[in-house]
Amino acid sequence: MTETVERRAPSEMPAVEKPPTSQWSLLTNLADLIHSDHHSVDFSGSRADYIHNRVRVLGLIYAALVILWIPIDALLVPSGMLTALAITRAVACMAFLAVALVRHNPHHLPLALFRLSLLVVIPCVFFFITQLILVDGVSEWAAMGYGFYPYVMIAQLAIFALTLLEGLALAIPVFLIVLATAAIKGTFFTADTVACVWLLGLLLSLALWAQMSQLQMLLRLYRQATRDPLTGLFNRRALMGRLDEEMERSERYKRKLTVLLFDLDKFKRVNDTLGHLAGDAVLRHFAKVVEAALRRSDLVGRYGGEECLAVLPETTPERGCEVAERIRADCHAAPAITSDGIEVRFTTSIGVATLLPGEDSEGLIGRCDDSLYKAKETGRDRVVLAD
Ligand code: GH3
Ligand code: MG
Ligand code: MG
Repeated sequence: MTETVERRAPSEMPAVEKPPTSQWSLLTNLADLIHSDHHSVDFSGSRADYIHNRVRVLGLIYAALVILWIPIDALLVPSGMLTALAITRAVACMAFLAVALVRHNPHHLPLALFRLSLLVVIPCVFFFITQLILVDGVSEWAAMGYGFYPYVMIAQLAIFALTLLEGLALAIPVFLIVLATAAIKGTFFTADTVACVWLLGLLLSLALWAQMSQLQMLLRLYRQATRDPLTGLFNRRALMGRLDEEMERSERYKRKLTVLLFDLDKFKRVNDTLGHLAGDAVLRHFAKVVEAALRRSDLVGRYGGEECLAVLPETTPERGCEVAERIRADCHAAPAITSDGIEVRFTTSIGVATLLPGEDSEGLIGRCDDSLYKAKETGRDRVVLAD
């Protein structure tokens, strides 16, 4: 059931501490705005929810507008085309409603992006069909109204917090449908088509800028709201929220969930003998050791002063103990190095507990804390599994 633990050897971990995390949490890597490969699982889940909610609202607005335009068609379009246009509008309305009303797995990013792509594809198909229906005798305003769709499809992308690659991928169908329509109408090599593509390109560059700015803002706010500024780990509030979600998932799918509670040994002594800045360097180093030992799907946060809690979904107690033992050994072996170049050796005691059926987070952490206490009592620098 458990995945292979991907971890780096302690020697591969940067020994020298990273810049102060207050700076780190404000920095947004350019790569994070280009693609989502390095977005954390929790951020992707939140962004998916954000995209999903906007898609739903936009779907409802489009469903209403596409139907409300029918009386305007009656005024502007020759009567012979009205029935075909009304049917196309009714079908488009139902498709938009389906996108807006289906509410399944809102935290799944690929699904959220798929829903968003439907808000591009449905108008694309609508545009293509209506361009075939509308022939001669259509008023200038009607032609303009229908010709406006590709621009709306590109402009709507500015509403979402998307990466550069996601924005470009969503724009491709719009350009293709405009070119396909021009080819069918025999206007492919005309100045009108060149002007249309040029304007779409201009609008797309503005939309990409807007969506990447939103993404940057979202990343920054998300990190500030959920991360501990010293270590870059989850803060306690975010961690407890995620623990509740993981416990619910574990109950629902009947999968094991194991938590590890860490407390650095004799840490006061580090502060007292080397100063608080050295203590901070140890905490940052400790956070890196723990993160390097965990999978991408595991969570780890700062639970208290020098106490951290790791949440390992789909993990048996035995596997949890193995991971804990590895972290304990890594801490024991790899000293932290302060900005003055001083090596600080440290160890950690670890309590391990696996969720029992019907148990709440307080009960689970309480049992884990008891086993941590036993680890302290029996000599520190050790792992103890809860009963
Ligand atoms: P034990 O082995 O029993 O855990 O001994 P200990 O000295 O580690 O005792 P305890 O866990 O109670 O000590 C916590 C210490 O951690 C107290 C506090 O000075 C220190 N601490 C908590 N947060 C920070 C922090 O952000 N930076 C630094 N430098 N020290 C911190
Ligand atoms: Mg403590
Ligand atoms: Mg301690």
